[in-house]
Amino acid sequence: MLSTPNITRYKPGLNHLAQRIILVTGAGDGIGKAVAIGAAKSGATVILAGRTVAKLEQVYNLIIEAGGPEPSIYPVDLTGATAKDYDDLSVLIDEQFGRLDGLLHNAAILGLRSPLTNYSSELWSKVIQVNLTAQFQMTQSLMTVLEKSEDASVIFTTSGVGRVGKAFWGAYAVSKFAVEGMVQTWASEVEGLGSVRINAINPGATRTNMRAQAFPAENPNDLKTPEDILPAYLYLLGQDSIGVNGQSIEAQLR
Ligand code: NDP
Repeated sequence: MLSTPNITRYKPGLNHLAQRIILVTGAGDGIGKAVAIGAAKSGATVILAGRTVAKLEQVYNLIIEAGGPEPSIYPVDLTGATAKDYDDLSVLIDEQFGRLDGLLHNAAILGLRSPLTNYSSELWSKVIQVNLTAQFQMTQSLMTVLEKSEDASVIFTTSGVGRVGKAFWGAYAVSKFAVEGMVQTWASEVEGLGSVRINAINPGATRTNMRAQAFPAENPNDLKTPEDILPAYLYLLGQDSIGVNGQSIEAQLR
């Protein structure tokens, strides 16, 4: 686990993501929105993936207004999309850009905070689908275009409850444990083979809708904003992190 002041205070050079093609899931809100805008400000062409098109269009407009490279919008609901959909996406990216340099798996759902003993199987399946299986399938399909990049960075999103089991976090916690395992497994498979690196980021407590849903009594003003935690994302998405593989990185100092 990497947790250094250097990463949380990482200051990228101007336009350090110029010419990079980066796909962000859940780009319409919360942390994904901030990373999409931050990456575009650093020069990246961002593929905005998410389920609420109006939110993606708003992010698109913000990037254009700020003079960033024109993004693309990829409407996708991770509950229903199939491996075939991700294969088609891979072909589209190949045709439009010829490669993919960054893939941030950010979208996730909380499910219900309840004892596992009472957890509904239906909700379990939905949370595991969105937070784990869809991410596995999308990465597998996009590997073709990731391997066409000189250095591609795949980032999964983890959580503190995906490292130490805590009561009532249900399928969400289990999905994050699995994400940590998938990152270690996949990273060790690609290590030394080619140009793709695979890591995880733990955002830490961050002021978003999901955090408010999990902790309704908390004062959001006590929390870091999505913009505050950008350095770790910009570090992993750019070339300064070449050679970093299989790590689970903290976006905030503890
Ligand atoms: P938000 O709920 O604010 O945003 C989640 C984003 O994912 C939204 O844009 C949402 O779309 C999208 N999304 C959810 N379900 C789907 C789906 N089925 N298909 C496509 N897109 C979907 O969450 P955060 O920004 O807080 O979380 C981002 C990541 O960080 C998650 O992986 C979360 O687990 C992790 N995390 C967050 C922490 C925090 O304190 N905020 C702490 C630790 C980890 P829509 O806008 O349409 O709802």
